[in-house]
Amino acid sequence: MKFSELAQFFEKLEKTTSRLEMSQLLYELFSKADKEEIDKVVYLTMGELVPSFRGLEFGMSEKLAMEALSKASGTKLSVIQKLYKELGDVGKVALEVIKREGKGLSVSKVYEELFSIARARGTLDKVMLLINLLKALSGVEAKFVVRIIVGNLRLGVGEATIIEALALLLGNRDYKQVVERAYNLCSDLGLVAETLAQKGLEGLEEFKIQPGYPIRMALAERVADAEELIRRLGRCAIEVKYDGFRLQVHKKNNEVYIYSRNLEPMTEMFPEIKQAVAKIDAEELIVEGEALAVNEETGEFYPFQITMQRKRKYQIYEYSKEYPLKLFCFDLLYLDGEDYTIKPFIDRRKRLEGLITLKNTLELSELRIVQSAKEVEEFFEDAILRGLEGIMGKRLDAPYTAGSRNFNWVKLKRGYKGQLMDTIDVVIVGYFYGKGARAKLGIGTLLTAVYDPSSDTFKTISKVGSGFSEEEWIRLKEILDEIKLDHRHARVDSLITPDVWVEPKYVITVSADEITRSPLHTAGKTGDEPGYALRFPRAVGFVRSDKRPEDANTVEEILRMYQLQRKIKVE
Ligand code: ATP
Repeated sequence: MKFSELAQFFEKLEKTTSRLEMSQLLYELFSKADKEEIDKVVYLTMGELVPSFRGLEFGMSEKLAMEALSKASGTKLSVIQKLYKELGDVGKVALEVIKREGKGLSVSKVYEELFSIARARGTLDKVMLLINLLKALSGVEAKFVVRIIVGNLRLGVGEATIIEALALLLGNRDYKQVVERAYNLCSDLGLVAETLAQKGLEGLEEFKIQPGYPIRMALAERVADAEELIRRLGRCAIEVKYDGFRLQVHKKNNEVYIYSRNLEPMTEMFPEIKQAVAKIDAEELIVEGEALAVNEETGEFYPFQITMQRKRKYQIYEYSKEYPLKLFCFDLLYLDGEDYTIKPFIDRRKRLEGLITLKNTLELSELRIVQSAKEVEEFFEDAILRGLEGIMGKRLDAPYTAGSRNFNWVKLKRGYKGQLMDTIDVVIVGYFYGKGARAKLGIGTLLTAVYDPSSDTFKTISKVGSGFSEEEWIRLKEILDEIKLDHRHARVDSLITPDVWVEPKYVITVSADEITRSPLHTAGKTGDEPGYALRFPRAVGFVRSDKRPEDANTVEEILRMYQLQRKIKVE
């Protein structure tokens, strides 16, 4: 396939405001791609070269891209900079200054060149390579190439939409589950597309876990109290809910790979865990656990902030000496060629107990098998007294359901009076200029949404106008303006029109007093029934770098929280 054809599809995808049209367009695009390059088409559509868990980045700023554009098009840098100020997007600048025809490069060729740019060590090399590439491209092609390079493709095509398009490739939307299963086991949509194109339905159905490819993590539902926990799970396991980093650790041929909750590569951040897992008596293995810093002297856990600091530290090794982490292992997903995700939890745990024998960097999560609400209550009270945020409940006979949130795992958290028992993660979909003092900042309120996986859309739930400092508002405006759109994004469902629409990209955490019904918001709205909204929402912290938009809370979770809140009120 020619790259110009891919760019034409990108143009159409960028303009569409309907998600169904988006999946239809993607289906057409994937049908046209050759078997050998469909993986590349998928990655490029997501603005990547490889899945994000491989951690390959371009390392090129807008500034460098502009320099390359200036040289490749023979336009003065000052003219380019002025255009960038006006248009706010290097892609549009490229379209403006590159007027010639392209040389008709193929997708594979452009991909290869992009790969060399990402791989090049020095800035100078990167710029040179980009200049050469741009010289062979038309304006429209260059628009998307530079956007990919600066990490801002702006198509906003989500995984779920790609999965749907791949299902259409198999015949119809009913095949979504097969595609999703394979995706949940490897987190690599390019690989899934390639398998589909080369081996068809059968290849996907036989898709297997491979250490080195992260499994999409299983998540927990909420319960209101100990009674509900027992009612839902019966005789079950309960564990302490540790407040640290969730990690999935892979071992393969003496190499160890560590992935975060949102599947980013984290191996280098946890040298002590890497070392400890390398010593486990297994050739190939995938375990999950929660990592946190423990005070060696008192045995107490350090607050989450101390554990988190490691993310920002450069001297990780020294830091790992000062605040060594422990990994509290709670699940085993794969062991020496055997898929453990399909086995019952209790069997996985037993095998895990056989593997984690030394109480050192790796420990087993604290677990108890219970059958009454009273036992749950006691364990919960004890956990709270120890300063923990709650407990987890796990069904004994349940498999590990990759990539899904259901009642196989539940969480019971401590609630606070007059406040929702949990914070909510929402996605910013637009903003308002603001009134009064805020007007001078040009931003005063955010329009936020929660995720609806069934339609792969973001449905609005609240305006958020408090919780940020003035500096944070300024920074927010800067980062939101980089992703602003001329129209509502195709995956956003809203009855409210903000002053500025943005691509659903950034997640923030908010706390609120309660969830109320509201006709203004689309989260949970059905027919004439009103949707749900947050009462007195305020932001907690800044943008969550560890969550993707699809990791925000879902509409269904909001409904659950609404029901739980009513239940607690009645009691
Ligand atoms: P939260 O903000 O409440 O942690 P979340 O959306 O990040 O929610 P949930 O699925 O709701 O994730 O809660 C499960 C999380 O709790 C896991 O992702 C994991 O990080 C953490 N956790 C802590 N202790 C355990 C444990 N013993 N078993 C499983 N998960 C645990």
